[in-house]
Amino acid sequence: MNLAQDGAAPGVNLNPLTCDREGGRGFDTAIDTSSDPSRDLSRDPYRDPHRINADLHCHSYFSDGTLAPSEVVARAHRNGVGLLALTDHDDVSGLSEAAAAAAELGIAFIPGVEISVSWGGETIHVVGLRIDPNDADLCAGLASVRSGRDARAREMGAQLARVGLTGAFEGAAALAGNPALVSRTHFARWLVERGTCTDVRAVFLKYLVPGRPGYVPHAWARLSEAVSWIAGAGGVAVLAHPARYKLGELALSALVEEFRNAGGLAIEVASGSHTRDQVRRFARLALAEGLEASRGSDFHSPLESHADLGFGPVLPDSVLPVWHRWV
Ligand code: AMP
Ligand code: MN
Ligand code: MN
Ligand code: MN
Repeated sequence: MNLAQDGAAPGVNLNPLTCDREGGRGFDTAIDTSSDPSRDLSRDPYRDPHRINADLHCHSYFSDGTLAPSEVVARAHRNGVGLLALTDHDDVSGLSEAAAAAAELGIAFIPGVEISVSWGGETIHVVGLRIDPNDADLCAGLASVRSGRDARAREMGAQLARVGLTGAFEGAAALAGNPALVSRTHFARWLVERGTCTDVRAVFLKYLVPGRPGYVPHAWARLSEAVSWIAGAGGVAVLAHPARYKLGELALSALVEEFRNAGGLAIEVASGSHTRDQVRRFARLALAEGLEASRGSDFHSPLESHADLGFGPVLPDSVLPVWHRWV
């Protein structure tokens, strides 16, 4: 099976969003959904990308999600998702299982990945959509990004031991579905399990962000590298959840500029972690910068995530959904 070429198979029901927008599934109807008269819907209104419940950002236990890829796909299907991308951090190992489950259920599937990047002292995430997961340069790049994780996780464990939290590396590693992908999320879950904090977000604030005792800075991929691995694998690069970065207006503009110059095509305007105001702000930015827009829940787990699969904000009609090319 060639995952990169299959994409949205003809004849697959792409689940129009119409009823969801009227509140049936809790979609955000406060966002401006007025029609854009320049959109040519004469072809087939049910292929209007704005009416498709696309979720192009989520995780399985091949990175820091808690569900198997097939469980992610089944849950997305139950939630009315019509077009799904699995985008595990720095790894494509879950994609074949997800693609097989999607084919079985008749849900259109796009192979994806979310690459960790270091830029301007911040960690930035770049989502790659409709990549060829077998592309050699992409696979080598992702292997290089993963390679530092083990030493980083051991150092996190050592630092946490110094503040009395012994066994954290072993605890986190035991919770990771993929030994190459022990992440801060696994440390957070372990610390919640042992009762140190009440939830994952509290662990991050107390232990896992810069200035806290379990935070270990790490050099991830360069922005231009990540974008070129994605483009080289036939994919589209999307700047993930832009509201999450601690960057001022100027630095954010510089990031977007560099991302676009490197070949980046879209920004994730509608993320499960974005407020309505942030959706509006990044829709304006996408339009101003001539970028397309993506939408994704960033679902990790039924108990932890901002938004469930297929839920969370929708794209304003003013922007061009990045998935227009696949429907
Ligand atoms: P890592 O790649 O090991 O640095 O882990 C990053 C992951 O931690 C992200 O992909 C999120 O899933 C999670 N994360 C980052 N910041 C937070 C936060 N403040 N609260 C909860 N989860 C977070
Ligand atoms: Mn994550
Ligand atoms: Mn991310
Ligand atoms: Mn993510």
